[in-house]
Amino acid sequence: MNGEGFEAVIGLEVHSQLLTKTKMFCSCANVFGLEPNSAVCPVCLALPGALPVINFEGVKLAVKAALALNLNVNRKSFFARKNYFYPDLPKGYQISQYLDPVSSGGYLTVKTEAEKKIRINRLHIEEDAGKLIHIGNRSYVDLNRAGTPLVEIVSEPDISSAAEAVSYLKALREILVYLGVSDGNMEEGSFRCDANVSVRRKGDTKLGTRAEVKNVNSFKFVEKAIEYEIERQIDLVISGGKVVQETRLYDSKENVTRSMRGKEEAHDYRYFEEPDLPPLIVSEEFIAEIKNSIIELPEAKRRRYVSEYKLSEYDAEVLTQDKDIASYFEGLIEANEAAGCGAGAGTGEAATGGSNGSRLEIKKLANWVINELLSELKEREGESRELLAPAGFLELICAVESGAINRNTGKAVLAEMLSSGKKASEIIKDKNLAQVSDDKGIEEAIKQVLEENPKELSDLLSGKDKLFGFFVGEVMKKTKGKANPKKANEILKKLIDEKKA
Ligand code: ADP
Ligand code: MG
Ligand code: ZN
Repeated sequence: MNGEGFEAVIGLEVHSQLLTKTKMFCSCANVFGLEPNSAVCPVCLALPGALPVINFEGVKLAVKAALALNLNVNRKSFFARKNYFYPDLPKGYQISQYLDPVSSGGYLTVKTEAEKKIRINRLHIEEDAGKLIHIGNRSYVDLNRAGTPLVEIVSEPDISSAAEAVSYLKALREILVYLGVSDGNMEEGSFRCDANVSVRRKGDTKLGTRAEVKNVNSFKFVEKAIEYEIERQIDLVISGGKVVQETRLYDSKENVTRSMRGKEEAHDYRYFEEPDLPPLIVSEEFIAEIKNSIIELPEAKRRRYVSEYKLSEYDAEVLTQDKDIASYFEGLIEANEAAGCGAGAGTGEAATGGSNGSRLEIKKLANWVINELLSELKEREGESRELLAPAGFLELICAVESGAINRNTGKAVLAEMLSSGKKASEIIKDKNLAQVSDDKGIEEAIKQVLEENPKELSDLLSGKDKLFGFFVGEVMKKTKGKANPKKANEILKKLIDEKKA
């Protein structure tokens, strides 16, 4: 590509489904995947005389999203009719917001190479359309989605690359999912994006003519579609052509965008105020209440994990990706601060040795969650995600960190805790897993192993050092993995040195 001297300008329009129980203006269920046309009523089927009612829960979620995205919530906003004809839109119009949206003027900070504020023009409430299903040469319509609640979030044209667009979308989706505003499921269409793309010569202040790429349904495809579109437009301008304002569709098989409709066919939506709904008025108290209910957002969490917990950016990133994991990790820190490896949190008995009441480093706890717990949970994907209580997990961590059981046994105990719900101390006791740390026991095992393998022993003594590992392995086998490997190494070395001398 000969893109030097050009820059891309991108603005994104995101539609996100809201996690309400019912639709935006009627009491039909808002559930994905129901039997087609089973969640419909006179309101969303647009039968004459049926009147819409505003779903309060939908307003709450929209306001929550708006506040998290630094938008100003407008005390008074209006619904409008956006008129167009399409078979999945029984009313012949969509209830949306036009001149006075529920919120305007926000921003989202994204991080690609550097941190950058992407301004958000508005977030408004609207209803979704139904769905057409094409099978063979027939088309069917499913109106279950007709009337389900959406927020549309419109960015300013502040984005300058495909990668930046993806960072913006990921950050946005993460916030909406964290807050429980949306499930963010892109495959099911709960989070979808239209990308407006234009190019201009560097230094130009005027925006170029944009093309809008519709409904791209994965981060990967958004990136590819935008990259393709930027390249297409630059090539076009360089070869003396002009970008026309149009809507294009991305074809993921061929990795191209194609014109869907041009400006001549551009819609005139004949917007007017929705006569069947009152203005949407929200009080200061309502806004304040919702503001208070907003939990710490992932980006803030990440920064705090680095500054307060002294974790690496990577660890902070992994631990905050999932809200439940983050709060689980914070619970673990609390348990550690409250009791540490003391009574109640240790394996009880003598197993925790002298570590009673001692606090583990936060970095250690982070490693346990990232390396052990997350991989265990991944293997159990689909099964119930009922986590063991943080205090119970801490008990296991303490057992390993104090040397009561070794690390591999610890992993096995964790797996068993997750499947049986038993306590670490119970499993360790029932299965007699406590590590053999006493020198006598280990020395005994080593002596037996040396006796049982005379050939290997004489090879080792005559300089085949590789066999050292073999003997450590045999000792672990003999003790059923319970020997403290460090001790086993030390004692074996001592015995071999004695024999050599
Ligand atoms: P419409 O409602 O017709 O889609 P808007 O003016 O609301 O038009 O803009 C929609 C999106 O297009 C916004 O995200 C905006 O930032 C973006 N946009 C507007 N002009 C341009 C442009 N020249 N290049 C890239 N994006 C643009
Ligand atoms: Mg648009
Ligand atoms: Zn309905």
